[in-house]
Amino acid sequence: MSDVYDLIVIGAGPGGYVAAIRAAQLGMKTAIVEREHLGGICLNWGCIPTKALLRSADVYREMKHAAAYGLGAEGVSFDMAAMVARSRQVSARLNAGVGFLMKKNRIDVVIGEATLTGAGRISVAPTAKAAVRPQAPLPRGALGAGDYAAKNIVVATGARPRALPGLEPDGERIWTYFEALKPQATPQSLLIVGAGAIGVEFASFYRAFGVAVTLVEALPQILPAEDAEIAALARKAFEKQGIDIRVATRVTGVEKQASGLRVSLADAAGTTQTLEVERVLSAAGVVANIENLGLESLGVKIERGVIATDGLGRTNVAGLFAIGDVAGGPMLAHKAEHEGVACVEAIAGVGEHPLDRARVPGCTYCHPQIASVGLTEAKANEQGLEVKIGRFPFLANGKAIAMGESEGLVKTIFDAKSGRLLGAHLIGADVTELIQGFVTAMTLETTEEELMHSIFPHPTLSEAMHESVLDAFGRAIHI
Ligand code: FAD
Repeated sequence: MSDVYDLIVIGAGPGGYVAAIRAAQLGMKTAIVEREHLGGICLNWGCIPTKALLRSADVYREMKHAAAYGLGAEGVSFDMAAMVARSRQVSARLNAGVGFLMKKNRIDVVIGEATLTGAGRISVAPTAKAAVRPQAPLPRGALGAGDYAAKNIVVATGARPRALPGLEPDGERIWTYFEALKPQATPQSLLIVGAGAIGVEFASFYRAFGVAVTLVEALPQILPAEDAEIAALARKAFEKQGIDIRVATRVTGVEKQASGLRVSLADAAGTTQTLEVERVLSAAGVVANIENLGLESLGVKIERGVIATDGLGRTNVAGLFAIGDVAGGPMLAHKAEHEGVACVEAIAGVGEHPLDRARVPGCTYCHPQIASVGLTEAKANEQGLEVKIGRFPFLANGKAIAMGESEGLVKTIFDAKSGRLLGAHLIGADVTELIQGFVTAMTLETTEEELMHSIFPHPTLSEAMHESVLDAFGRAIHI
């Protein structure tokens, strides 16, 4: 048994490694255990490599429309293998960056699979699936299998793809995001099951390169977590790009053919249909990694498949904490990071600021982009709130027109009585960069007056945010 640490973190995704850094900053003797790659799903198989691929799609799209900007770009082509290689390099660079940050902050990195063996104790075994998906080399000086002890343990083991019955991924024709991020070749056709953020981003990427994409969603709306008006605009834009969208539709069977797959679909009315496709991507969400951790033996409370916590990462077991995807939704990297910091600061006694799930923004990096924070119009109505709604289209925004990106809308929802900003929902170019303005406004509990009196630089897309707020109160200028 090694020395007792102040904190051991299990899992080096954005939740885990950020928690470890904050703990080290607060003077805690800290170790982090990782069975696969520093940076977790986010840096290696999620947020970052998808954005690298989507950037290739954006550049390709713009090159194809060069003439609209008075430019010539003849014979524009793409090389899927080169795009994938770039995306893997971006991941590897950030993966190595996390190794550097661990070293800089004097955090011990332990490579292997951790199991809780008792209060404040873990056992680390060699990783069963080591080097399946190699990235940058392991950080020098990394520790290995053995028993470790700590005053506090944070579980940050993340999540993995949900496997739907009858749609079990085979790594070849039935994909999860792992295979979709690293295709051997560009498929002619792809059926994506699930139109949440992950499904929609892959639909956008593959469609940009001419793949016949069918997007199937069991619920009546694509992007089910988003405001219905924004989701409807997104659907219209995707259909215009040629994506075949089927909502209120389920995949009822997948049959392997000599080449490709025959997929059976049934819609809400019971109408059935079969489609022949080359590949299927199962993007029906993720499930938390709660298995084989020894949680049961410690009596850790699990609720709806995730570790139950109190907003500061505290579980029902003293000294044991959980953050990130394993502690429930929204399953997003920035939520995991925020929770990691809040959890460690509470352990160190330097302040309590529990996660407010209502203020976690959500971004989808498809084309056009989508970003939101707070209540949708439907949710505000469900809560019986009287609302004032502002809308401002990119069509009336000078910068959007200059950019040739006039497809977009900023929708803001205010409480009619108090003037409190309840929610903001955006679609259009770069809105994933704009949303932070509204997140800050909500965090600071800014009034509608303060927002209206803020100065927005001209010409920017952010002026559409200002105008949307003004519109909610009948004062929009440019429409
Ligand atoms: P993870 O990143 O999953 O990390 C958990 C780590 O724990 C893993 O490295 C795993 O190997 C390790 N681990 C598990 N069990 C053990 C064990 N027993 N011992 C040792 N180590 C263990 N979110 C966004 O905010 N923005 C996006 O744009 C975005 N895009 C995404 C795109 C895709 C395709 C996917 C799949 C996800 C995306 N996400 C995005 C979600 C985001 O990746 C996750 O919310 C985030 O990674 C969660 O962080 P985490 O630290 O909780 O867990």
